[in-house]
Amino acid sequence: LIAFLLYLFYLVAPVGQLVQGFTEVQNGLAAVRRIREVEELPGEVAGTTGHLAGGAPAGVVFEGVAFRYGDDRPAVHDSVSFEVAAGGLTALVGPSGAGKSTVFALIERFYDHQAGTIAIDGRDIREWPLAGLRACLGYVEQDAPVLDGTLRENLVFAAPDATETGIARVLERTRLEDLVARLPEGLDTRVGHRGVMLSGGERQRVAIARALLRGPRLLLLDEATSQLDAVNESRLREVVAEVAKETTVLVIAHRLSTVTGADRIVVMEAGRVRAVGTHDELLAGDPLYRELAATQFLLPT
Ligand code: ADP
Ligand code: MG
Repeated sequence: LIAFLLYLFYLVAPVGQLVQGFTEVQNGLAAVRRIREVEELPGEVAGTTGHLAGGAPAGVVFEGVAFRYGDDRPAVHDSVSFEVAAGGLTALVGPSGAGKSTVFALIERFYDHQAGTIAIDGRDIREWPLAGLRACLGYVEQDAPVLDGTLRENLVFAAPDATETGIARVLERTRLEDLVARLPEGLDTRVGHRGVMLSGGERQRVAIARALLRGPRLLLLDEATSQLDAVNESRLREVVAEVAKETTVLVIAHRLSTVTGADRIVVMEAGRVRAVGTHDELLAGDPLYRELAATQFLLPT
């Protein structure tokens, strides 16, 4: 929870001021300040990482990763090994509790794994300055919230330096132009619970647009399990495919349309990787995958 708050405040520092008072929150804000300070040291982050947002697609390797959330907790990852090639779409599938979301938490270093190695571009993530690491990651959580504010505010709160051209380009890539055209005040229309309600499909694409505005080299997408209508389903598929042409996408997939479009699928079960392959290979070779496919991957998480 603390890690999640930290992350949230890392993204939403200005909003965080509203909820001061909790020690945890204050710690979170202090951490945000530290991150900001690190980011603002001229040349420091760039000099030590050589890899910043907007760079080439990143590759990820998990090698024998073991992790538990606490000494007295059961192991979540036993010995997890898989590779995410730079560029393209890799899908992570598996039953609820398999450890999929924890993979994201470890990549983002909300937690540190206890054994094995996680490397991005061949470099151990523990050697990356935290701010440099997170600057190259985009994360779309499972049911990403639409904040009470304008659509523009929803898009730029994690990327305050976004330009109009940058915003327009991201709107096009996420197929949100129709939505903007339809809204009475375009990008400056208030959305969220006190404004225009967005559909589930629109909310997901707004969250993807928000992440893309930061120019990630690796996009971590925890797909929502909610059913989408045919139009939104096919738009999401197009958007994910298009984004995967420009950056690396690792998606925790809950849709058949996502896995069939993936270059590679990693099947997790009980803290291990049980199979890796394409949709056709796994349908032919892995009974658990066949079972997941039969339920359209739409499992509770
Ligand atoms: P999945 O995304 O595949 O459903 P998770 O990675 O969310 O799986 O969870 C794997 C296991 O770790 C589950 O048993 C879950 O209860 C546990 N877990 C997940 N997050 C936390 C956390 N923050 N603290 C303690 N246990 C957790
Ligand atoms: Mg999950």
